[in-house]
Amino acid sequence: MTTEKQLKDVLSRIATAERQANRSSGAVSLVAVSKTFDADQIRPAIAAGQRVFGENRVQESEGKWPGLKREFADIELHLIGPLQSNKAAEAVALFDVIETVDREKIARALADEMMRQGRKPRLYVQVNTGLEPQKAGIPPKETATFVTFCRTELGLTIEGLMCIPPAEENPGPHFALLAKLATECGVEKLSMGMSGDFETAIQFGATSVRVGSAIFGSR
Ligand SMILES: *Cc1c(COP(=O)(O)O)cnc(C)c1O
Repeated sequence: MTTEKQLKDVLSRIATAERQANRSSGAVSLVAVSKTFDADQIRPAIAAGQRVFGENRVQESEGKWPGLKREFADIELHLIGPLQSNKAAEAVALFDVIETVDREKIARALADEMMRQGRKPRLYVQVNTGLEPQKAGIPPKETATFVTFCRTELGLTIEGLMCIPPAEENPGPHFALLAKLATECGVEKLSMGMSGDFETAIQFGATSVRVGSAIFGSR
């Protein structure tokens, strides 16, 4: 199937899931995850109207997105992979949403860069809902304290929470936990759900889903 056809298919599955969850139409936005695909493989999705994209590496993104963003001014680029503080300047310059604020050092580096560049990407805090040692993210129990720290100490606006449930577990409880934490922290946005589980995430209140392989094919 072509990228365009697969994109349409994912959008229609999102619309169906919204209806089944009694969510309003358009409540869930699609972040098309284009990591490992080059600009020419991304273009068909842009031509079909997709404007929100996700990437997990700053350096890879710098190779393909500045040109595409000049060409299509309304593209919204999300960083969905771990950020090193020595890449904070590049990330603030290129991304419109950074979903992976996951420790104090990164929050500080982003606050400094946002001040220096006068550019304010929207920010999400990544939560390690499964407490997996190899995975980034704030432990669930520390999320509210961390969000408050970002707000009061650093003056950052935290717009949402993001999670990647453990691959081998039922994702539902992880999505439910993220939704509960968002309510506790007073944040509106929930980035959760990927190709294999985005309909479940929509049931649990996702406001955006990050879908890669179902649109662009396997990596
Ligand atoms: C790659 C990636 C996705 C997309 O995964 P698919 O299974 O290809 O849909 C979503 N979120 C994050 C954080 C990713 O790194």
